[in-house]
Amino acid sequence: MKKIGVLTSGGDAPGMNAAIRAVVRKAIYHEIDVYGIMNGYQGLINGNIEKMEIGSVGDIIHRGGTVLRSARCDEFKTDEGQEKGIAQLKKFGIEGLIVIGGDGSFHGAQSLTDKGYPCIGIPGTIDNDIAGTDFTIGFDTALNTIIEAIDKIRDTATSHERTYVIEVMGRNAGDLALWAGLADGAESILIPEKSDSFEEVVNRLKRGHERGKKHSIIVLAEGVGSGFSFGERIEKATNLETRVTVLGHIQRGGSPTAQDRVLASRLGAQAVDILLAGKVGRMVGIENNKLVDHDLYDVMSHEHHINSDMYKLSKELSI
Ligand code: ADP
Repeated sequence: MKKIGVLTSGGDAPGMNAAIRAVVRKAIYHEIDVYGIMNGYQGLINGNIEKMEIGSVGDIIHRGGTVLRSARCDEFKTDEGQEKGIAQLKKFGIEGLIVIGGDGSFHGAQSLTDKGYPCIGIPGTIDNDIAGTDFTIGFDTALNTIIEAIDKIRDTATSHERTYVIEVMGRNAGDLALWAGLADGAESILIPEKSDSFEEVVNRLKRGHERGKKHSIIVLAEGVGSGFSFGERIEKATNLETRVTVLGHIQRGGSPTAQDRVLASRLGAQAVDILLAGKVGRMVGIENNKLVDHDLYDVMSHEHHINSDMYKLSKELSI
């Protein structure tokens, strides 16, 4: 292989830039030309493709978002759209593609691989909801953003003796809520993977209040339901003043943490190495701090599991 491409797709995540930088620099290190595809699969179909140099990725390692931008593209879900993409890649002489994104983006990469075009996936999503890797790029930064926000909310919660329900991202995955809840000493953590009974949440709040607790924090993943309606139910059931904060898109932004920059650098470089070694249709990941790669089909057909020991621990520590 003499020319490879890289794109970011789906929801952006802090650390994607560090991954792009690693792909570009590692390719150039191997004396391979590397092309950046703008706006995800939409840009691929449109031929929005530019050659990247060492300097193209200078001064981006610390920036959130993605300099290649991202987009959602329904046309790419069709055979026709994928053929158009492959035709553009061939036009530029690009022989392999690295896709940084989440589950949806990997479906795109798998479809190209099935059509004979070699792709490698890098897991980039704040949700940490991908099988075959302990962590995805962006998770650690989003987690730290949540913790910083909850710490601030805790100050006002204590001053006013309130219960706070904090809704965080995670439609199908509870990792952000679980880790943030444990890191912030939340009274209850509500995640899609585990069903805590409403009575249990209420009883824990009441017990804390009777013990003279000045505030309570409940962390709820968006996939469980609306934080606002949950807050209303809690206030009715406990008679404790309850406020709701939906953290929303601030969770996606910001400068990536050291953890995310290092992870992104390692995964980006590894993706180039395995692509040049002739592997196709694989996702690079990290397991027990070792770089690994898995078949994309396997990754997409398995669920990422939350750490049940951590969930149990969160309960034991918030008695
Ligand atoms: P994420 O990668 O973060 O999960 P999406 O689910 O929005 O984000 O997927 C990103 C893009 O990947 C979509 O806009 C589409 O272009 C492409 N994609 C998603 N699903 C498929 C599919 N089944 N086949 C081909 N391409 C897909």
